[in-house]
Amino acid sequence: MGKVVAGNWKMHHGPVAAAAFFSRFKPRFAPDSVEILFFPPDLSLAASMETAAVPAGFGVQNIHSAKEGAFTGETSAEMARGAGARFALIGHSERRHVFGEGDAEVSAKAGAAVRAGLIPVVCVGELLGERRAGHLEQVLRRQVGAIVEAVAAASRFMVAYEPVWAIGTGETATPGDAAEAHAIVRSALGELASAPILYGGSVKPGNARSLMSAPDVDGVLVGGASLDPDVFGRIVEAGAAAESVNPVREP
Ligand code: PEP
Repeated sequence: MGKVVAGNWKMHHGPVAAAAFFSRFKPRFAPDSVEILFFPPDLSLAASMETAAVPAGFGVQNIHSAKEGAFTGETSAEMARGAGARFALIGHSERRHVFGEGDAEVSAKAGAAVRAGLIPVVCVGELLGERRAGHLEQVLRRQVGAIVEAVAAASRFMVAYEPVWAIGTGETATPGDAAEAHAIVRSALGELASAPILYGGSVKPGNARSLMSAPDVDGVLVGGASLDPDVFGRIVEAGAAAESVNPVREP
């Protein structure tokens, strides 16, 4: 399988807008050269799956760690799976830094996703201050270390490295920055090191190919630029054209 190109729509595109997106989403790429994933809002999941004309995987942006209960406004992993989701974003930086999720909660959610048969895409990444203080490796090892046990039994899982200072800011890590961080994540994964590691943070058609050609970068997680079908289609095409350099997965 080639690169993974995933779109995180955040709180954008209700069911009508989702259907309109898919009526225009027609990237040209060789079959099997890219795995496309979408993370629409929960309420747009059904409309997205019904209207997508290209092969794609669908997931939710967040789950609760409990199976059910008095948790107003929350969705469990089992419910997401029952609604047709196959993937779940876990620990996205907005969940960590806007909604205050810590490593223990992220780990509990990753475990809940695995038990429900969802494929977790666990997001990690450092704040600007942590990077400037020289704590990149320490932060990534802590965040990855917190989830390895929870995902050890997963048939499949992915990590998304998303430096918080590059999300929605227009600031992008260089391919060299991404490769350095991905190598740390891969090392921290230990026996799970063959998992795909995606880069996220202001990915655009103009930088997608060079980022995806960097060593250890197995794909991208795209926020803002995934909302427009033509723009996201060009990122998918960049994924199909990118070179694969992954010392563990493709020796
Ligand atoms: C994201 O939401 O995961 C993300 C990387 O956002 P953006 O591409 O807009 O920086």
